[in-house]
Amino acid sequence: MQIRSILLTSLIACATVSASAQYPGWQQSIDYTMDITLDTASHQYRGEMTAKLKNNSPDALDRAFFHLFFNAFQPESMMDVRSRTIADPDSRVGSRIVELPEEEWGWIRVESLLVNGQPVEFVHDGTILDVILNSPIRAGKRATFEMTWTAQVPRQIRRSGWMNKEGVEYSMTQWYPKVCEYDHDGWHTEPYIGREYHGIWGDYDVTIHAPKGYEVGGTGVLQQDLASARSSGNWNFVAENVIDFAWAADPDYEHTSAAAGEVMLHFYHQASEDYDANWEALPAYAAKAMAFLNELVGPYPYPQYSIIQGGDGGMEYPMATLITGERSLRSLVGVTVHEMSHSWFQAVLATNESLYEFMDEGMTSYVTSLCMRHLFEEAMTSGVPHRSSYSSYISQALSGNEEPLITHADHYQTNRAYGVAAYSKGEVLLAQLAAVIGPEARDKGLKDYFAKWAFKHPGPLELKQCMEFASGLDLDWYFQYFINTTHTIDYAINSIYEGAEQATIEMERLGTMPMPQNITVTFENGDIQKFHAPLVMMRGSKALDEDEILLEDWPWTSPTYSFTILTPSPIVSVELDADRQTADVNRGNNTAAFDTQWQRVFQRH
Ligand SMILES: [Zn+2]
Repeated sequence: MQIRSILLTSLIACATVSASAQYPGWQQSIDYTMDITLDTASHQYRGEMTAKLKNNSPDALDRAFFHLFFNAFQPESMMDVRSRTIADPDSRVGSRIVELPEEEWGWIRVESLLVNGQPVEFVHDGTILDVILNSPIRAGKRATFEMTWTAQVPRQIRRSGWMNKEGVEYSMTQWYPKVCEYDHDGWHTEPYIGREYHGIWGDYDVTIHAPKGYEVGGTGVLQQDLASARSSGNWNFVAENVIDFAWAADPDYEHTSAAAGEVMLHFYHQASEDYDANWEALPAYAAKAMAFLNELVGPYPYPQYSIIQGGDGGMEYPMATLITGERSLRSLVGVTVHEMSHSWFQAVLATNESLYEFMDEGMTSYVTSLCMRHLFEEAMTSGVPHRSSYSSYISQALSGNEEPLITHADHYQTNRAYGVAAYSKGEVLLAQLAAVIGPEARDKGLKDYFAKWAFKHPGPLELKQCMEFASGLDLDWYFQYFINTTHTIDYAINSIYEGAEQATIEMERLGTMPMPQNITVTFENGDIQKFHAPLVMMRGSKALDEDEILLEDWPWTSPTYSFTILTPSPIVSVELDADRQTADVNRGNNTAAFDTQWQRVFQRH
């Protein structure tokens, strides 16, 4: 018998981790003051802005860049061409941009720009403004950008714009000239094709002049009382330490609020006989969700969160979300929980989502699944909350069209490949850690990750490192395989040879990604024995339950692995990964069953 009776796991020191953390210890900071005048007759607005950038990098910057997202909503823009030429167009965009009449285009034109009081040269280049500085912004120095611009709000197509399909007038997201992020990876000047953002944290002081009668909600805390904002049409919001600012305006909004602990929740929706009851039920769910997420991940750090009917589905912004509102209660709560969950990953951790979209959408989907089970009091059976993500990832992997998680969000060959990778495989990445390091270590690792990397733009290595610390296991291989490759997991029972009092079980790794294995053996007398085979390269094992028996480590270089057990009575069946914690792409070979009394040998081939 090759069973060790005691757990030989020894906690490894972090020094054995080969990859180093990415975070360089600095990040840029920026503060915006904006004054915005909205003209609802022309759907245009005028903006004045002072943006104070502190160059905390060790580098001298001789250029600067701003995002001009609204310029994507014009015929022949990169977003338009991409959405008409990709194999599986997003139905929300399709050919809608090329069909827009000119008065419904989006555009944003910078009229004047001073840097530290001096005019500078600037070039509009699609959705990016390229600023040629008169003199470099040296390391540790500040630069003040004073800008005026005019913009036309596009007819609502994707996320932002005028008049969404439910009749909300202004969904103002990705709407102002926003300084591009410069980090240890250099400038991030992605043209706006359709998805994912990266930004600099800072304080926003935004005053919006809207026509009287409009209700305005968004990122930040309203600085005057609601009645005076409504009567004057001047809305001043301040948001501290956020990576973006979004708002929405409509004359028909009903605005309610509710407390979730210390946080004030705001709700904006248009009255509707069909959906009012769902919106009335929403605050209680939203408050309960926030409490759950605070416990699961870490404390929400902002004073308010606004849930606003608008946009074209659901999209997350700091301290706010825009969601479509004509939904069943379950759908309304589901989209709210998903977008609220982004607060922890998109707004506070704020990983570069263009490069590591799975660390935003995937981790958000992971906690959303758990939160929805909690809200609707559904069974928390192991693995079940994430089942649909396992299924969609496995079917994509088997289709041959999977692309690795590390693919840039805009550059997947299909929208489907992006969606499955970012949301489903990203969710599985965390859920599956239950099989690798155990659920307790994974849950601790998630909390530690948030506590350590909030407001620091972590990447995959930082997540891996926190999971290694929490478990004491080496996880280079897990993150390398699951993020950087499309290798898949498939383990099988090859054979069982059963003697009088013992049996030898052989397993085989058929897939190209190694995984530790849980083996469940069921005997005729009703006994069940559970075994666990870790991988050599983990340098230990996850914590086992009292009734689980630790086997010798499996070197991944060996395709097969045998172990011998004592048998209290004849074996009925042997199953790999009975709790379905791993994304094994072929479960048909995971179980070996003896269906007759006399058959005491099982062979797969
Ligand atoms: Zn999302």
